Amino acid sequence: MSVKESPVKEIPVEGITYDQIKIEKIPATPAYIPRDARLIPAENRAVVINPGYTCMPLGAMLAVLGVRRAIPFVQGAQGCTTYVRYTFCRIFKEPAAIATASFHEDAAVFGGRRNVVEGIRNLVVRYWPEVIGVVTTCSSEIIGDDMVSFLKMARKRLRDEIGAEKEEAVAIVLINTPSFAGSHVEGYNRAARAFLETLATRRTRPNKKINIIPGLVYPGDIREIKHLLQEMEIVGTVLFDIADTLDAPLHPPQSLPYYPPGGTTLEEIREMANAAATFALQPEAGGAGARFLERRFGLPAVVGPMPVGVAATDAFVQALARFTGRGVPQSLLDERGRLVDAMADTFHHTMMKRVAVFGDPDTALGLTRFVCELGMTPVAVAAGTPTRTFGRAAQAIFAEYQHLFLDQPKIFNGGDLFEFEEYLKTLKRLDLIIGHSKGKDIAGELDVPLVRAGFPVYDRFGYQKKPIVGYRGAELLLYDIVNAILDYRYPDDRTQQL
Ligand code: SF4
Repeated sequence: MSVKESPVKEIPVEGITYDQIKIEKIPATPAYIPRDARLIPAENRAVVINPGYTCMPLGAMLAVLGVRRAIPFVQGAQGCTTYVRYTFCRIFKEPAAIATASFHEDAAVFGGRRNVVEGIRNLVVRYWPEVIGVVTTCSSEIIGDDMVSFLKMARKRLRDEIGAEKEEAVAIVLINTPSFAGSHVEGYNRAARAFLETLATRRTRPNKKINIIPGLVYPGDIREIKHLLQEMEIVGTVLFDIADTLDAPLHPPQSLPYYPPGGTTLEEIREMANAAATFALQPEAGGAGARFLERRFGLPAVVGPMPVGVAATDAFVQALARFTGRGVPQSLLDERGRLVDAMADTFHHTMMKRVAVFGDPDTALGLTRFVCELGMTPVAVAAGTPTRTFGRAAQAIFAEYQHLFLDQPKIFNGGDLFEFEEYLKTLKRLDLIIGHSKGKDIAGELDVPLVRAGFPVYDRFGYQKKPIVGYRGAELLLYDIVNAILDYRYPDDRTQQL
């Protein structure tokens, strides 16, 4: 029987529909000029408006701060360091010691050789770090600083002054981060590869440890990953372990020079060459490190997906079990069960809610899969940093959950948040946005709640301690989502059970 002949009559909608009551938005300023539609796609513009990413050295500096007694040394102008320190303080509410070569006009013209040679000398004799992560910037890369030669000169200068033994005790890792070639995501990725290439150079005594490269996450996420390992009785090394360095207890009196507790030790990084496998939880932020160990020593590399939600955490836990021969303990099954129970308890709030997700590519994909697991309908998914695989990976998730959609969600692979916002404004209905703090004004403009998740979140206290990875992290994220929905007053034509 054809559709036309179907005896089932269409049931008319009673009452006022949302389309009828939706009031056209009144511009906030009288001088508001409607957008020129041709200039909304970022690719049509010579300017980025509200970028969804930040600069490449920032990712590398964050990585270095996860190493014990390590200080990033930024080969560039003071501003390239000051704004990063300011950003870290806003996110983590912790001080971040970062040194700068302090480029001025002379360095911009003649190069930064003197700055790095003198700067490293000053840093060592005043702070005695165990590791220096030398992070280049736009200016030093454009000038064409020969950093390999400069660092040899810096080492000689040090040796002459403090002797070979003390000079050799300081590891120096060069991370090339020309910011015009990528974002903070690539900066972290390059740091992972640079640290392992420089320090994990020999496979001597294979051990059964598991390497974890967590990516751009928070101290709370790293603690959750360690918790999963601990429950499975797996010994692991977390590269760039910011769990304590960027969430340190305040214990006066502190000795000077001050280094926060924690961080991955030099010896642990060297030992990563001897591990059984490497897990890079974010392929775009750390995958290069895992692949280096695979190429160099044949260590299996498990690259993604970020363990957000049920399926992705299951995949992570099962892969851990496979590589270590450990079983999945009852305690983790219980955590999984509690998450599934919470999902069942809240399903009537989350199902069919129309949600827009944005963030760093791997985080955005993890969040997208999780909202699909919750029965929500993603209407737009945006990666602040474009990647070769983001579009395909998002499509694969949508194909898996196609019963949730009438229309295909819009995918933004890069672009800027202005373009994302303008698209959201064209939607008839949007219930929620999930993303980092840069979405605050978009949510305000669209008058929908913003659930903060991803990097960076700088306008919330305590966020850095709260995981989104693992079963417990997903449960906490679910509560944030549901409570945001409950707190919000939606138009009257939409059912909402309180
Ligand atoms: S984008 Fe370039 S110039 Fe600007 S802060 Fe980053 S490294 Fe410095």
